[in-house]
Amino acid sequence: MRDMMPHFDLYQPDSVAAALELTSRLDEQAWILAGGQDSFDWLKNRTRRTAAVVDLGAIDELKGVRESAGGGLEIGALTTLTDIEAHPLIREKFELLARAAGRVASPQIRNAGTLGGNLCQDTRCWYYRHGVDCYRAGGNICYADTPEGQNREHAILGASRCVAVSPSDTATALTALDASVVLRSRAGERIVPISEFLVGPAINIRAMTTLRPGEILTTVRVPAIWSGAMFYFEKVADRAAWDFALVSIAAAFRMDGKRVADARLVAGAVACVPWRLHAAERAVVGRERSEDSAERAASVAVDGARPLNYNHFKIPLTENLVRRAIRDAQGA
Ligand SMILES: Cc1cc2nc3c(=O)[nH]c(=O)nc-3n(C[C@H](O)[C@H](O)[C@H](O)COP(=O)(O)OP(=O)(O)OC[C@H]3O[C@@H](n4cnc5c(N)ncnc54)[C@H](O)[C@@H]3O)c2cc1C
Ligand code: SF4
Repeated sequence: MRDMMPHFDLYQPDSVAAALELTSRLDEQAWILAGGQDSFDWLKNRTRRTAAVVDLGAIDELKGVRESAGGGLEIGALTTLTDIEAHPLIREKFELLARAAGRVASPQIRNAGTLGGNLCQDTRCWYYRHGVDCYRAGGNICYADTPEGQNREHAILGASRCVAVSPSDTATALTALDASVVLRSRAGERIVPISEFLVGPAINIRAMTTLRPGEILTTVRVPAIWSGAMFYFEKVADRAAWDFALVSIAAAFRMDGKRVADARLVAGAVACVPWRLHAAERAVVGRERSEDSAERAASVAVDGARPLNYNHFKIPLTENLVRRAIRDAQGA
């Protein structure tokens, strides 16, 4: 890590319209800057360079949380993770998201890091972050998936040449909440479900999202459907603070009396994208939340997993998190 970034032109627009004019004009040259907690690593390390940075920090219309007509929420992409964690509407309706945001990194990083940046951040695979010529960087090898590869943190599901995982805690929660993102460019607006916005290597091995050059993520929409449901979020990491997930679970349960009417069980850090555990969801829907249904769900949760040399532990860990989510979810 060096402490000087190479030269670039810095633009600081104060409206979305001005930012879109810049990203459209600069196209692939534009590096969008939010809280800088991922961007500055790349630029200070000099593993990436850019001719121009478009800093969104002064755009007030991209900040804040609003209730939408149907009872859901619209969250500005520049809202900090600290504000997400503390916001009364998020805590009241979608506590799952507040809990996930509260488990990101450290208070200082949450004060600077934004929701949009947390969703768009790049993978933390250290081979890639050190600038090697792996598949994701345009080369023809994965250094993590070799007999000597250090792959304790890497994927057990959904890999395709690249075995890196998504580092975003809020993405796991937002996948469970069926959220979508609003992407704006000068050509117009796209509203994309988060499950399609975040992509694995089989779809695009060079990027973790479907964001196109010139586009800005302006808003995260959380629909009302899971408002006030029973939630569970747990993140297991090597350290209690300042650490990425080894495995996490975000769960939501809508109840019909004592039975589960609908469920979302999403595991983080087991795949390149937040991974919906469909079989485990099916195992619990229509049943009571009990040791028995938790056991059934856990037993099918990671079917098809392909662990690497050093991450077999992720299988029982994910199964245990599924058991705990079904047993200990609270709310409603
Ligand atoms: C030491 C450390 C520990 C961390 N631990 C965790 C953790 O445990 N869990 C976790 O989830 N995260 C973790 N993070 C990530 C951090 O929380 C930030 O959320 C994340 O790095 C990026 O947010 P940011 O706002 O700083 O975005 P930036 O760094 O400014 O941007 C990140 C990327 O997103 C793009 N981008 C940002 N905003 C937009 C937008 N609105 N539209 C289009 N593109 C955009 C940028 O171009 C860039 O490519 C950690 C970071 C550090 C440095
Ligand atoms: S896991 Fe992906 S990012 Fe890491 S070395 Fe392999 S190809 Fe590169």
